[in-house]
Amino acid sequence: MKVYDDMSIWMVAGSQHLYGEETLNQVRSHTEEIATYLDAQKGIPAKVEYKGILTTPAEITDFCTKASADPSCGGVILWMHTFSPSKMWINGFNVLNKPVCHLHTQFNRDIPWGEIDMDFMNLNQSAHGGREHGFINSRMKLNRKVVVGFWQDSEVHERLDAWMRACAAVKDQRNGKIARFGDNMRDVAVTEGDKVAAQIALGYDVYGYAVGDLAQVIADVDEKTIDALIEEYKAQYEIDPALLGEKSDALRTAARLEAGMTQFLEEGGFCAFTTTFEDLHGIAQLPGLACQRLMEKGYGFGGEGDWKTAALVRALKVMGKGMPGGTSFMEDYTYHLDPANPMVLGAHMLEVCPTISEDKKVKLEIHELGIGGKDDPVRMVFDVPGGKALNASLMDMGNRFRLLINEVEAVESGKELPNLPVARVVWKALPDLKTAAAAWIYGGGAHHTAFSKDVTTEMLIDYADICGVESLVIDADTDIRSFKKELQWNDLYYTMKGFAGGV
Ligand code: MN
Repeated sequence: MKVYDDMSIWMVAGSQHLYGEETLNQVRSHTEEIATYLDAQKGIPAKVEYKGILTTPAEITDFCTKASADPSCGGVILWMHTFSPSKMWINGFNVLNKPVCHLHTQFNRDIPWGEIDMDFMNLNQSAHGGREHGFINSRMKLNRKVVVGFWQDSEVHERLDAWMRACAAVKDQRNGKIARFGDNMRDVAVTEGDKVAAQIALGYDVYGYAVGDLAQVIADVDEKTIDALIEEYKAQYEIDPALLGEKSDALRTAARLEAGMTQFLEEGGFCAFTTTFEDLHGIAQLPGLACQRLMEKGYGFGGEGDWKTAALVRALKVMGKGMPGGTSFMEDYTYHLDPANPMVLGAHMLEVCPTISEDKKVKLEIHELGIGGKDDPVRMVFDVPGGKALNASLMDMGNRFRLLINEVEAVESGKELPNLPVARVVWKALPDLKTAAAAWIYGGGAHHTAFSKDVTTEMLIDYADICGVESLVIDADTDIRSFKKELQWNDLYYTMKGFAGGV
């Protein structure tokens, strides 16, 4: 996943010729200084490049055209150090297809009370230059992020960090290919959706394959590749002794699945994939370990043909890259409804990504799988440490996609689960289980989610805004009456807006 290495954020300042060359030279050097400063910040994951100042409609349109056409440009930061009359921006904005951040900052943090004169006022006028800029963005209904504050404040860097991570996910998915091995699980509604609408809004293309195509690649994996993977497993995990003894064939089959699926995904240039236990054709086990290992490498995954969640897991993996934590495919499985301590146990049949285990022990085990009618599958089993986390889910509501986010607190239950043969997480949903579950259900939220210990609500909202996707947050401030009204207002808004999707 090289997405941040290949991405740069272009920063410019808007201005005009009214102020004279001396002032414009100061605008130039200040903008370059800010871009260089932001680029050097450790918390900011992408390169920030100074791209000059824009003083005429032609310069603005040229900049927007180049930013739109350049594949390395992940987004643009626009700053109005001075006043830049906004009619000059209209034609440029009409061609700009990259995410926009309006940085509403000022070069001087403080008013120099003793020395301030009209020269200072003419140079440091973002307080009203930024308002003129905001107007035309709003008038043209352009999605953008507005970040306010002094450019050296860490809080400003955090806002920019979140937005750039969202830009990276958008950039990744605009070239993204999702592979589906088999169709959606029969009769399930929420995993369905309009793939054409998804490509228009989110950019990724979903390819279907017969499971036999994959089975052939898996069958052709050579024994040496399998030997190498077994050695890797031995070095990395605690392995059930049976898998190295009487059940070693099952482990070799799991390694064969991993090698074959990796080859298929690499050769096709895919970033995410789905499987379904209802359609395994010539595959001996449901791929559990293989899906876990591929997610660990950065692939998105969705079970039961769920391509929307596969793509979402990938988006969160891109957003969270380099941060402590991790992201996994997840499903709300079982409740602990003790009124004094309500909790949710999240897991899946097999496919939970070990990046969320952090320092917890990961064991390779083999157990019977009650459904699917195939050989017993190998899987990684682990617990997940406590801490802030969230669940995110993407649904096709017919006239738009809805991204639903629930902030949760992962907890260590302190209980042994000796008979549970899958990786699992226990969490407390915010604001409380009853409110969170009711809001999730009123919102039509799926049982499948992307569970993340590193991605934040802010990143997801930025991502949804860039894509023109509805976002709804269930957090410490949620109350059901307001949430239901928000659902009704949003329904009205998206019905009136009509669906086109995209920036
Ligand atoms: Mn499922």
